[in-house]
Parts: sequence; structure tokens; C-alpha cells
Amino acid sequence: MPGSETELDERARAEAETEEAPAPTNFIHEMIEEDIRTGRFGGRVHTRFPPEPNGYLHIGHAKSVWLNYGTAVKYGGKFNLRFDDTNPTKEEQEYIDAIIEDVRWLGADWEDRLFYASDYFDQLYEWAVELIKKGLAYVDDLSAEEIREYRGTLTEPGRNSPYRDRSVEENLDLFERMKNGEFPDGSRVLRAKIDMASPNLNLRDPVMYRILHAEHPRTGNKWCIYPMYDWAHGQSDSIEGITHSICTLEFEDHRPLYDWFLDALGIYHPQQIEFARLNLTYTVMSKRRLLRLVNEGYVRGWDDPRMPTISGLRRRGYTPEAIREFTERIGVSKANSVVDISLLEHCVRQDLNKRAERRMAVLNPLRVVIENYPDDLVEEMEAINNPEDLSAGTRKVPFSKVLYIERDDFMEDPPKKFYRLAPGREVRLRYAYFVTCTGVIKDEQGQIVELRCTYDPATRGGDAPDGRKVKATLHWVSAAHAIDAEVRLYDHLFTVPDPSDVPPGKDFTDLINPNSLQVLTGCKLEPSLANAQVGERFQFERQGYFCVDPDSTPGHLVFNRTVTLKDTWAKIQQKELGGGE
Ligand code: ATP
Ligand code: MG
Repeated sequence: MPGSETELDERARAEAETEEAPAPTNFIHEMIEEDIRTGRFGGRVHTRFPPEPNGYLHIGHAKSVWLNYGTAVKYGGKFNLRFDDTNPTKEEQEYIDAIIEDVRWLGADWEDRLFYASDYFDQLYEWAVELIKKGLAYVDDLSAEEIREYRGTLTEPGRNSPYRDRSVEENLDLFERMKNGEFPDGSRVLRAKIDMASPNLNLRDPVMYRILHAEHPRTGNKWCIYPMYDWAHGQSDSIEGITHSICTLEFEDHRPLYDWFLDALGIYHPQQIEFARLNLTYTVMSKRRLLRLVNEGYVRGWDDPRMPTISGLRRRGYTPEAIREFTERIGVSKANSVVDISLLEHCVRQDLNKRAERRMAVLNPLRVVIENYPDDLVEEMEAINNPEDLSAGTRKVPFSKVLYIERDDFMEDPPKKFYRLAPGREVRLRYAYFVTCTGVIKDEQGQIVELRCTYDPATRGGDAPDGRKVKATLHWVSAAHAIDAEVRLYDHLFTVPDPSDVPPGKDFTDLINPNSLQVLTGCKLEPSLANAQVGERFQFERQGYFCVDPDSTPGHLVFNRTVTLKDTWAKIQQKELGGGE
């Protein structure tokens, strides 16, 4: 909802006040600085971002990308992009391509170090053979079901598989034949021989290889056995000389296993460090759920502007800088928490405030005829492109007798605090004149279809010479010059702050907001927007920030609203700081 100028000033002040937030702590950097001080890893810092190509990246991944890349940059180190592509049944080239595009767009630079865990399949196979020879791995014929049963529980120890004590020779023979495709899927696995009574379930003889007669996006049909993530991940880090292997908390219990593998092989040993994943209110972050939203048609695709994906945020109009600022402001911690989505919105609003040029656009048009304005006159009014960046210059906006204003900016019977246009009231039209409403025209149903106004020629582009004031400034578009556009307004994808908290008997999709997308057609834009390019971002004065959608075609512009001007985050901050009364 557009507001009066006084409201806008208040918002600007609130925004400025929140800018002084203290620098968030980063315990990972503290650990790394200690390693540099003690000369561990020879003072090197080498990080990586290890996505599994089974979906598109989301804002949580952006946090990991920036943490890893930002850390490498901060300490003059290196950063790798590595696909953990160990599961060919869920992984696709489409995801690989999208992830590469997104990481690049976020601004992380892996230089020439783009790797794939599948590059290491030969090495991993050799290492598995080595563990068999050391008596530290065995081929198990138990079914997946039986393996689960034998594993025990958190309170009960597991039981040894009857195949656990096969000879090294038999294991070598069976493992090779597994690789050669002699056995069907699921008939055998290779397991590490660790401890079926370990209190850590990950150490109860974890599976290292499974048989999967599936084509891999990169290795094709070369393999029909595939390494488990846990067997591939730590060794991949080791091969790449990663110093600090940063991952999310759920891998804390896997660290002893990674350590066990690296020690058993006697190879280079990175330091794993875990941090809490990012969760955001009013959205979901699990790839499984995001995939369901896409496959079941709740959104228009992975890049739907309502999705928390990087491609969705990009299409919505987010900048990489805003995303980076967000990931820095939330900091890094060991405690799981949920971040208010209004902080993300605040970050993009602040960034776009600096860089987006202002335009006038009427989303919900109401025709206005200026009765005392000459019929054929067109005046070019000078408008400032960006008051935050005067180097962006000015532009001309045509003004004429018939205009559009926002329907919301008029009320026939206004309540007390409504300062905008009403019968008999005078307001300013931005960059143009003071106008006074003299008449309201309705159709047969009583709907207002047009306003009649008069203008004061003495107020052109400024104030009234007699010093009289108006309480509101409205945006407008000249009807004869306006271009039509479609505008898509977005709201939260879910109706509740925590959609992972699904009530019994319900599915998370039951919590989807049915009004998360509102499509407006016949919106009227100032003519300078005719040449707006896909991806270009603007502030529509008093409305918010908008970005040209790729669905636009010549003659049919489509805009996405990135974010409104109203800043709920600034309000939250103000309250917390004890101000805001
Ligand atoms: P899933 O959603 O299936 O659990 P994932 O989100 O862990 O998968 P990966 O491709 O394995 O997907 O993630 C790549 C990297 O991004 C990992 O290092 C992971 O720890 C990190 N990451 C994933 N989600 C988040 C999150 N919400 N916040 C921070 N980092 C994350
Ligand atoms: Mg993962």
C-alpha cells in the first residue's frame, strides 16, 4: 500500500538506525586463525563448496558458498567447487548446470578448480581394495532390511553380520565381481569393519559401496557399484588438499567415521568443522520438499520467484550483494535457529535503494482528467532517477490532460488518517503540479471510473507560491503515453512461520499460502520503461522494487515485485532496541 511522504521518511529513518548492527561472530574464523598461528596445514587455507546435484541451490546453500568462499578470500586461500555426485539415481545434468550458474552468479570464484567426486571413483575403488587387504572392509550378503535389523538401536548394540569374517581373498574376489556387474542391485554391499557395538551408529560397519546398475551423468555406464557419500566425502576433501572442511551440524556424528577412514588409509587429513544450517521463516529448505513443490505444480518451477532457491531469488530481483549481506549479517553458529525472512527482505531493500532507478508505475489505475489543462499540451517533466545516487541523472516524463493514478490513492469518504486524494482535497502530483479533486464519475454499478481535477499552473515542479501545503504526493502516468504491463506480486509461500511443523494428519503442502501470487494486468507504466531489459531492476515510486521477468516478450512487459518498501524488519529491530513508540 502506498503511503504518504511522512510515512516514507519514517521508514528511511528506521532503516538508517538498523545499519549499525554489530559484526556477527564467526567461530570458524577463530579456529582457522588459531591453525594459521600454530602453522597447522603450513598456514594454508583451502575450502570447498560440495553440493550434491540432486536439486537447485537455495539460500541455505548461499550461506555455505559465502562462508567457504569468503573464508578462502579472507585468508588468501583457495576455494573449490566440487560436486558430490555419488548417487546417479537422483542426480541430473540439469542440476549440475544450474548449480554452476548459481555459484558463479553469487560471486564465488573457483578459478580452475571445478571437481567431481566421480573424478575420484578409480582412486576410491583402489582405497576400498586397500582396506579389504588390511582386513578393514568386507563384502556383506545381507539385504538392506537385514542390515538395518542387525545395526541395533541407540540403546541396543548391533550384531555382527554372518559374513563379517570372510577371508581377504574371498572379499577381494567378491568386490571385484561386484564391480564387474556379476550381481544384481541390492544383493551385496561392501562394508567397513569397525565396531557393531559402537555407541555411534555411523561406526557400526557402515556401507561403503552399493550395487546400482544405473547410468551416471559423468561416468556413464563405467560403474555399477557406487560409493556411499560417507565413503566418498572425506577422501575427496583429502585428495583436494582441503584444510577446513566446513559442513552442517548433522555431519558432526559422521566426523569420527571420516576420521577413521582417513586414518585407516593413512592419507592427508583435513579438519571438519560443523555449523548450524540456515532456516528461514515462511519457507522450506529441504531439497526433497522443494522438489515436491516443483513436481506437484505448487510453483512454476525451481526458479519460481516464490522459491527460496538462488534462481528463484534472482528471478524475483534479488542481487548477489543483498544475499551476501544477508548471509554475513546472520553470522555462523553451532546452535540451530530460524531467521526471520524479513531480514532477507531488508537486505535486498537496502541494496536496491542504492542501485535501482526510480520510475512511476500505476498498478491499479484510476483515470484522472485535469479539466483546466489544455487539451493538446504535453509537458516533459524532469524526474530524478535515483535520489541516493545523483550520478544516475534525470529523465523526462510526459504530463498531459488525462492521467492515471493509483486507485488506492483516492477515497470518496476518507477516514481521519487518510491524507491522499479525496473530493475537494488538494495533493501534489510528483514532479508536476498540485491538483484538486472536483468530481467523481461512477458507472451504473456505482464503481468509480474517473476523477475530475483542476491543477494550479503556478505549482509546476515545486511548491505553491502562496506557501499553502499539501499532505500527500502521488505518482501518476500520462494515459496517452503509458505502456501496459503485467505485474506479479508475491507473498510468503507458506501461511505459517514454520512450515516444517506439520500438524498431525496433514502434509506440509496443506500449509501453502493460496494467495502467494497475485497477477495484475493492465498496469500503466511511464514510457521510459518501454525498453526495460529482462533482469533489470527498478523502484516503482511508493510501491516497492520490481524486476523484469523473463516471461516478457516484445510489447508485453512482465514485472516481478521483489519486495515492498515497507520494512517489517526495521520495525522489529526498533522494538528490540526499545524505540519505536
Ligand atoms: P538435503 O536438503 O537433501 O539435506 P543438502 O541441503 O545437504 O541436502 P547438499 O548439496 O549436500 O544439500 O549441500 C551442499 C552444502 O551446502 C553442504 O556442505 C551443506 O552442508 C550445505 N548446506 C545445505 N543446506 C544448508 C543450509 N540450510 N544452511 C547452510 N548450509 C547448508
Ligand atoms: Mg547434503
